Amino acid sequence: MKFELKAHLRCSGAVVRTRTGTPEGGVNLSDIDECVAYCNKELLKKGAPPGCGAEVVRWKVVDERITLEIVSDRFVRAHDALLRVKKEFARLLGRYRIGLRGIEIEDYKIALEWEEGAEEKEGLRIRKLPFVKEIRHRKGSLELVLDVDESSLDKKIPDRLIRLLEEKKEANRWKGKSEHWELIFESEKKEHYFDKDPTEAMIQRDWLQHAAGRGQYVYGPQITQIFRAFEKILLDELLIPLGYNEMVFPKFIAWDVWKRSGHAKGIYPEMYYVCTPKSRDPEYWEDVIDYFKVTNEVPVDMIMEKIENVGGMCYAQCPPFWVFLQGKILPDDILPVKVFDRSGTSYRYESGGLHGIERLDEFHRVELIWIGKKQEVIDHAKLLQERYRQIFSEILEIEWREAWVTPWFMAQEGRTGLAESKEVGTIDYEAVLPYSGKWLEFQNVSVNGYKYPSGFSVKLQSGAELWSGCSGVGLERWAASLLAQKGLDPDKWSEKFRSIVGELPEVFRFL
Ligand code: ATP
Ligand code: ZN
Ligand code: MG
Repeated sequence: MKFELKAHLRCSGAVVRTRTGTPEGGVNLSDIDECVAYCNKELLKKGAPPGCGAEVVRWKVVDERITLEIVSDRFVRAHDALLRVKKEFARLLGRYRIGLRGIEIEDYKIALEWEEGAEEKEGLRIRKLPFVKEIRHRKGSLELVLDVDESSLDKKIPDRLIRLLEEKKEANRWKGKSEHWELIFESEKKEHYFDKDPTEAMIQRDWLQHAAGRGQYVYGPQITQIFRAFEKILLDELLIPLGYNEMVFPKFIAWDVWKRSGHAKGIYPEMYYVCTPKSRDPEYWEDVIDYFKVTNEVPVDMIMEKIENVGGMCYAQCPPFWVFLQGKILPDDILPVKVFDRSGTSYRYESGGLHGIERLDEFHRVELIWIGKKQEVIDHAKLLQERYRQIFSEILEIEWREAWVTPWFMAQEGRTGLAESKEVGTIDYEAVLPYSGKWLEFQNVSVNGYKYPSGFSVKLQSGAELWSGCSGVGLERWAASLLAQKGLDPDKWSEKFRSIVGELPEVFRFL
């Protein structure tokens, strides 16, 4: 890695005596020489291995500006070197009652090693980067010409750019490799009583209708009663016996939540965006209103100019919960805490992947969250797995399997491997759909480590590490799994499940 930086220190007055006349005093050029020599010998080598670090290779003083050219390796990056030199100069100039007003960056180039192996070439071709005005691919290296100012240096933009490139390299390494998937449990085979697509069958029986939006359904009384039966099973067999408490989580998610949860790193192609009006003055909206009145069309383009994005609709349920704990210190004796939410819909833009109630843009899910010390969280995940197995084998009587998979927070960074330890990670539950022979993920159990507590700055009084886990139960996915294997006729369901659902209501008839 090589860094080449040209910057100016802006001073409050002329630095040295010049022909055009200077205020009283002024710095001796030899003092500046000495200061630079000290920087090069000591200050810019501090913390670097012998022979490494940064160096001021050229300097010049014109009126109120000191121009510096700094070259460095990765040990004391040139922008860090500049900040060190600035402090040193501030001390020197202070003796002459000259202040330092700021830094101007004239030019900043970074060159880093960049392999462009034959097959992964495409993935490593960088065309555009924030705060970079020019990108040059050279043999074995990548050259960036940065577009940064002093505040970008304060925000550590150059370091973050380098980290971003390292992440891209890493993601490229994983690309093409299939996601990690490792079978850990398989139920016994079950007799299937149905070989049709359950959504089609339900539509034929008017149990549901496609709604006006994409991937969205209006659920009729029968399937709704089935959803409620699923919730009752969860409550009676798992949530109540394991000591869960119900909460209500927000379903509009402000950006700050996704910044902290990490979703802001990759959610963009799959989220539903939420906007608010730039003004609530009816006059501001009059042209839109008039346009609709005369055309009966909603002028979406005109609207887009009058609104602004403020976040998105619920994607995963747990991120907004953590705002409840954000910045708090918890006494150890309240642990483990177990809560769940079933208060609303989740949204994902599934593009062309939509398929009946198996893959929706709008879906319903019960989300469980448990919080505790590391071992508590891991043990509770095991307990949940046992309870779920009981439900699937003894009440729903379905055929399913469980797999250890790449956790979501790695998947969104483009990594398809496994979390470093086997303690953090996700188990997917999948059911076979006889009509297609495919397996459908209908829920998961995740141990998320300290990811959420650290993202939302939640601490324990004792200082021990706080961990958490979550489990998302998709109601439509449970329904699709059960009905695909057993059909819509309650006679084919287990006796237990039939009695929990009760008589299915017949409310609507269509002519
Ligand atoms: P898939 O691989 O099927 O897209 P996912 O890995 O994106 O699923 P998660 O992010 O693990 O799903 O979401 C947790 C649960 O939410 C899933 O197990 C499922 O029950 C439900 N779910 C996710 N996406 C959808 C969807 N588009 N339609 C219906 N349910 C969904
Ligand atoms: Zn979750
Ligand atoms: Mg998905």
